[in-house]
This record gives sequence, C-alpha cells and structure tokens, in this order.
Amino acid sequence: MDIAVIGSNMVDLIAYIDQMPKPGETREAPEFEMGCGGKGANQAVAAAKLGSRVMMVSKVGDDLFADATLANMKAHRIDTEYVTAVKGATSGVAPIFVDPASQNSILIIKGANAHLMPEDVDQASAKLKQCSLIIVQLEIPLPTVYKAIAFGNEHNIPVILNPAPASTNLDYSYVCRSDFFIPNETELEILTGLPVDGEENIAKAAMTLVERGVKNVIVTMGSRGAMLVTKETVTTLPSYEVNANDTTGAGDAFIGCFAHYYVQHHDVMEAMKKAMAFAALSVTKRGSQTSYPTEAEVTAFLE
Ligand code: ATP
Repeated sequence: MDIAVIGSNMVDLIAYIDQMPKPGETREAPEFEMGCGGKGANQAVAAAKLGSRVMMVSKVGDDLFADATLANMKAHRIDTEYVTAVKGATSGVAPIFVDPASQNSILIIKGANAHLMPEDVDQASAKLKQCSLIIVQLEIPLPTVYKAIAFGNEHNIPVILNPAPASTNLDYSYVCRSDFFIPNETELEILTGLPVDGEENIAKAAMTLVERGVKNVIVTMGSRGAMLVTKETVTTLPSYEVNANDTTGAGDAFIGCFAHYYVQHHDVMEAMKKAMAFAALSVTKRGSQTSYPTEAEVTAFLE
C-alpha cells in the first residue's frame, strides 16, 4: 500500500434547478445526477487514478448508496477491506442544488461517517503500518482524526491533515503533529481567527501553525494558486490558467495528487506543481471525481 485515507465518503445527489421551491411548494427540476463524493473518497480516487495503491478506512450505511460507493471504490482499485457497513445507518449523502447561475446550495448528511471511530484505526493497524502516507480530513469524528495523526507519528508515517470542513474546536496538540496541513484560505481564516486578505496575511496566519509545530502548511488559494509555508520558507506558486467550469472537488484533487507524487519522489515543490496542474484540469470539467484527469492528461498539459 502507498496511501491510506482515513475519512469520509458521500453520495452527491445533484439536482440542476430553475428555481428553489418555496416552503410547501413542489417544483420540477430539469436534470439530476448522482455522483460519488465525500472528501476522503475524492482524495483516494484522485491518488488511485494516478496509479497509487490506496486503501480506505471508512464507513458506509446499510442502504443502496453503500453499494454504489463500494462499487466506485473497487472500480478505482481502492482497497475496501476496512470500508465497513453500519447496521441501521444511512450512508453519507449530500443533496446539492445547482441553479442556472451555477450557484451551489449543499446539505451534508454525514450518516455512517459519524460512526468511524478510533477503534476502526486500531482494527486496520496491520495494513495501515504498510502505508507510506496517511491522509485525514474533518468529515469524521475528531477523536478518529486525532487517532490517525497519533498512529502516523507512532509509526513514522507522514500524515496529511486537510482541516475541512473547518472546525473551531480542534485540539492543536494533535493537529500540529501533522506533517502537511493543507487548508484553503477560508479554512485558514476560521482555524486561526486571523485575516487572510492578501498573500502577506495568508503567510502570517499559516506561520502561526508552523510555530505550533506543523512542519509544512500548504494553503490552496483557488485560481490564485497555492502557498507553502515552513520554518525556513514561504513560497507561492501561481495557478495554471484554464477555463474554469466547475471548481467542486478542486481541493480534494490537489490533495490526492499531491499525496501520490509526494510518496513517489518526496519532493514537496514538485508534488505541489503536479497537484496544481491536476486540480486545474479538474476545474475545466463538471463534477468532482468524474472531473479528475489521468496521468497522461496531466503530462500532456504540462508539456
Ligand atoms: P473545493 O472546496 O471547491 O473542493 P478548495 O476551496 O478546497 O476547493 P481551492 O483552493 O479552490 O480548493 O483549489 C485547490 C487548487 O486547485 C488550487 O490551489 C489551484 O491549484 C487549483 N484551482 C482551483 N481553482 C482554479 C482555477 N479557477 N484555475 C486554476 N486552478 C485552480
């Protein structure tokens, strides 16, 4: 195994609407799409699409969405031995409403994801120990996030923490022991309580996390690129110019691709450049996982 993702999976239920129904009203919507998502699963699929051997530690419900989620993971050759069903629970689902101006309104029902416990990390420990990198996000219970970081530290396995969705009650004694802390600008602002307008302020806010012990903070900044902040350096890489169509899942694309190349070469800058190209290509297409390119497409784009 190269990469373990200890995290969430969701099924996106996307309704393309003309108008939101008012309370008590029933309206027809012209189009509907179902897609596999969830931050954990998106990141796992991104890395697997590039050829990493990926395992997931995750929970599905006791319903049809679980079958779709497992089938999708298997189609991407993701190891699902530790993706288990919670009896009587629904799977994580995200009803999404997209209006004609491409504005998204999203509801998240965590379902089975709320049942991923620290003991699930223990149960997968023999296989987890074989991995070269662990990725974790915040769509699962915080004690499980802390356990994943502690497990990585204990076994000398680097940990990427994607602190999304942002939470203000993180225990910094755990999260600052992650090797790569990768928020977007909004998450950085919520987490640090500091302003993030302009690169100077972003660097200052990120530096407070480095001072608390994080080795590398990488802030993704949408069409403005990404910034690496360490004890020694602050480096900003501008994004690749593309015609953006749908930015859903761009952050997950970045993280999954970064993980893949970091495991291959241990070169942070190089992995960031590849991740930015991969994420840029993903925003040119609709959807999250379905918009992720192949390695050949990334190579062709960078030539
Ligand atoms: P999301 O929540 O939509 O998944 P995010 O807010 O977590 O995304 P972003 O910072 O928006 O993540 O994007 C991640 C990376 O994707 C950026 O650092 C950048 O490299 C790339 N990216 C995003 N939007 C664009 C864009 N419009 N053009 C080029 N690259 C982009």
